[in-house]
Amino acid sequence: MRKKIVAGNWKMNTLPAEGVELAKGVAAGRAEVCSCVNFIVCPPFTHLWQVVETLKGTDIAVGAQDCATEAKGAYTGEIAASMIAALGCKYVILGHSERRQYYGETSATLNRKMEQAYANSLTPIYCVGENLEEREAGRHFDVVKAQIEEVVFNLTAEQFADLVIAYEPVWAIGTGKTATAEQAQEIHAYIREVLRSKFGAAADECPILYGGSCKPSNAQEIFAKADVDGGLIGGAALKAEDFLAIGKGF
Ligand code: PEP
Repeated sequence: MRKKIVAGNWKMNTLPAEGVELAKGVAAGRAEVCSCVNFIVCPPFTHLWQVVETLKGTDIAVGAQDCATEAKGAYTGEIAASMIAALGCKYVILGHSERRQYYGETSATLNRKMEQAYANSLTPIYCVGENLEEREAGRHFDVVKAQIEEVVFNLTAEQFADLVIAYEPVWAIGTGKTATAEQAQEIHAYIREVLRSKFGAAADECPILYGGSCKPSNAQEIFAKADVDGGLIGGAALKAEDFLAIGKGF
């Protein structure tokens, strides 16, 4: 049985007090959702610590949205994976399309970030996905395959056993356009096949999340698909009620 996961990427939203309120709201309604669903929230760095404190004693995990390529030292403005782990975080989102697009993250960068994450016992939520032009040119399978081969294929079997993948078509992120449940299943199944070619049966244990305008009204249909193990949620993660309702989609 693969883990069912609903992870919230708060991006550059919420001030510390707002983040704490949001986390409290998620914690308050959590019992209404099946305990089989693993909730993760990923606030901005500035209040990771406060959100970890707020969620202590609950089963809601906290993750960061990125980490540095280096372990420590003269890297002004960067946040090391060890610092994130020291706060009590368990996850780190890596390779989000906004980081690839706006901050020039490449597979080379991401290989180093993945190493840092594992060296500090953080589980990476590794994001892959094609843009609109690539989808329209029918290149989405090749794009996603390359993003996996260039990074995930460098992991050991032990590391791979502690990985979450998020498929997020760039054209569906924050646009209100969602991939259909069939489109999601098609590419999730393909991703699993690619993973199987390298890691064998362990691919069947890897949670693959869908991300891109996922909301309470479409989560159920998408999560019903065999190879969709949950969602990475942006906009709808900023309202506790919506985030929890997405969890009820299983
Ligand atoms: C995201 O950026 O991870 C995301 C899925 O955003 P949204 O749900 O807002 O499309």
